[in-house]
Amino acid sequence: MASTVDVIRVLELYSGIGGMHFALLESGLKYEVVAAIDINPVANKIYAHNFPQCKLLEIGIETLTVSWLDDLRIDMILMSPPCQPFTRVGKKRDCEDGRTRSFLHILNCLPKLNNPPSYILLENVRGFEVSKTREWLISTLEECNYQYQEFLLTPLQFGIPNSRCRYYILAKRAEKFAFQTDSVRADLPYLATDWLVHKETSSAPLKSEIPESLQLFLNPWAKYGQIMHQAEDEEGHIYPGCKTLSAFLEDGTVEYFSEFLIPDKLLHLFIVIDIVLPFHRKCSCFTKRYGRFIQGAGSAVQMSYDAEALEAAYNLKTNAVEMKNRSGWGDEELSVIRKLKLRFFTPTEIARLLCFPESFSFPEATTTHQKYRVLGNSLNVHVVSILIRLLVLTTTDVSSHS
Ligand code: SAH
Repeated sequence: MASTVDVIRVLELYSGIGGMHFALLESGLKYEVVAAIDINPVANKIYAHNFPQCKLLEIGIETLTVSWLDDLRIDMILMSPPCQPFTRVGKKRDCEDGRTRSFLHILNCLPKLNNPPSYILLENVRGFEVSKTREWLISTLEECNYQYQEFLLTPLQFGIPNSRCRYYILAKRAEKFAFQTDSVRADLPYLATDWLVHKETSSAPLKSEIPESLQLFLNPWAKYGQIMHQAEDEEGHIYPGCKTLSAFLEDGTVEYFSEFLIPDKLLHLFIVIDIVLPFHRKCSCFTKRYGRFIQGAGSAVQMSYDAEALEAAYNLKTNAVEMKNRSGWGDEELSVIRKLKLRFFTPTEIARLLCFPESFSFPEATTTHQKYRVLGNSLNVHVVSILIRLLVLTTTDVSSHS
């Protein structure tokens, strides 16, 4: 069995653009990804571009055999199965959904392995914890003598100004966890405290950077829950330690950002767009629909700091919200909204918020929509890297550090 000093042989399932692989890289552990598997050719091109040496298979996971898995002699499985069957706003077809089939296949294989992996980490959406598929997963883990710990965590808890609450499970065979296991946790064990701060991004600018002209409008906007200068999750927990978004935004000219301006057909949704400014400490979760849609798909950046433009837009919004009236919005209203210069976050900015390293890049031929799609499916690299470290941490590691 692998200990933290051996090279950990990893199988990355549903590898997408390699969020798990980047998390391994950040974890500082010695590892080898012996195979990464995904059926999406666009994601695979991006994966191969970033990890050209890695063995990447473009096949359905339901076609893997027990003997093939056994021959790989893997120590760790990292996986993020498709989440659509479990999303809270979706149909929640759970194990009835065809997209869960390949994961159920993996669960069927696990008890048949002669060399089951010592470690498993799975990521999925919030909602998975109450699914039948999760019950199936737990009973398989118990049958195979794994201990496990489940989590519901958001990057906001790690100082990253992006809301993305996700379900995670860590499972471990033969070895005990270095912390007391419990029911689903919404925090990390004390042991992980030292790893929490994300190293790669620069520190947050001071509050004095908020332009005077905007201070006046902060509170009235916040009243509608649209603009927040404090990080707050869906349940109202406040995370004051978050960096400001400015640490993640690109420096660009007007021309550079013109490709990302929100088109008029989406500006009609003005009152429901989550608008953020660079000094805010939160943006909403980016989904794979981002770029084609905005409502519920991710936040928009307001580029204008012009007080008059903001006041006019604020009045428009107050009317629309309080009078419940936005029928008959025409050119005049649109021109008020256009003055805010609302834009999408760029794919680079989303990759930074997901804590991909600056070395991450896309092949030249990838379109902007393809980038949004694959990033929306991916995960927060920093959060997963901490969980990987917790997973392999042994009680001996802990006592040798104390
Ligand atoms: N963690 C990944 C994203 C996971 S999203 C990242 O960081 O990018 C789920 C992935 O599962 C998608 O990329 C999808 O193409 C892949 N997938 C879905 N069904 C599959 C199947 N049956 N076999 C292989 N890959 C599958």
